[in-house]
Amino acid sequence: MSTTIAFIGLGHMGGPMAANLVKAGHRVLGFDLVPDLLAAAASAGVRPAVSAAEAAADAEVVVTMLPAGRHVLALYREGLLAAARPGTLFVDCSTIDVADARAAHEAVAAAGHRALDAPVSGGVVGAEAGTLTFMAGGGAEEFAAAGPLLDAMGSKAVHCGGPGAGQAAKICNNMILAISMIGVSEAFVLAESLGLDHQALYDVASTASGQCWALTVNCPVPGPVPTSPANRDYRPGFAAPLMAKDLGLAANALRAGGVDAPLGLKAAELYAAFAEGEGAGLDFSAIVRTLRPAAPTPNGSPA
Ligand code: NAD
Repeated sequence: MSTTIAFIGLGHMGGPMAANLVKAGHRVLGFDLVPDLLAAAASAGVRPAVSAAEAAADAEVVVTMLPAGRHVLALYREGLLAAARPGTLFVDCSTIDVADARAAHEAVAAAGHRALDAPVSGGVVGAEAGTLTFMAGGGAEEFAAAGPLLDAMGSKAVHCGGPGAGQAAKICNNMILAISMIGVSEAFVLAESLGLDHQALYDVASTASGQCWALTVNCPVPGPVPTSPANRDYRPGFAAPLMAKDLGLAANALRAGGVDAPLGLKAAELYAAFAEGEGAGLDFSAIVRTLRPAAPTPNGSPA
């Protein structure tokens, strides 16, 4: 069944996601602040709107794919909720603060609409291929109503719980990933200092209790996993600034909840510094470069 969808935010992720909704036979009205992105979406069959509110006025579902919580809340509060027809389903796929997601749910409900937070994993490659994983928070009815649309954009959708639960799952998962990537990287650096070959460590750990995604899929050193970003000069992949962003959200949630998670907070600190410096354009696995001991200078002191 064809649904009329307003899609707001047609960037790296939103552009291909909107295109997949068109491919699945839906009527998609799109808007982005950047005219070139709107034009690119139009060439994929998205009908360009002159504003987010114009797109929402004619839609049964409003999907947002925006940089951060402040963009989502500002858009909702400054016209989008007022423009939509009563009972419109608002699906926010952006990665945002859990507290912002809960505030967004409240604003949507207060305006007489329905809400689902549904952040994704899978990156631009998954957005283009329609193989994203959605982590959803909200009511069971809202999750069921969004089902056909999530199926058109992804290959898996998990209903994680009530408002904000999708965002909570996303930051918990990425906190595991960041800590495990740093752990795997530190193990390779220790192996180097002990004269242990990368491949030998990989052959043992990949089938032993050290096994994890950071090792067997996104291995931070070149060689053992030919498809990992380390073999292409750490071209992303999952860019370090996106990991830093997600860890910042996790750190906010840790502090707000009074949760003592020293490794999560340390990972957030390391990735923030890395993303602002040499990691700005690199895959997050390149953090291994920062963990090696500094080469001694000619006079023997560390560089
Ligand atoms: P992006 O910057 O490419 O796209 C965001 C778009 O939102 C931009 O085109 C921007 O012009 C538009 N925008 C901002 N404010 C707007 C407004 N008021 N009205 C209309 N358009 C507006 O970012 P992205 O990489 O597509 O990421 C989008 C979201 O998905 C982020 O929350 C990000 O954390 C999350 N995410 C990204 C990836 C990834 O690999 N890129 C993976 C998982 C999740």
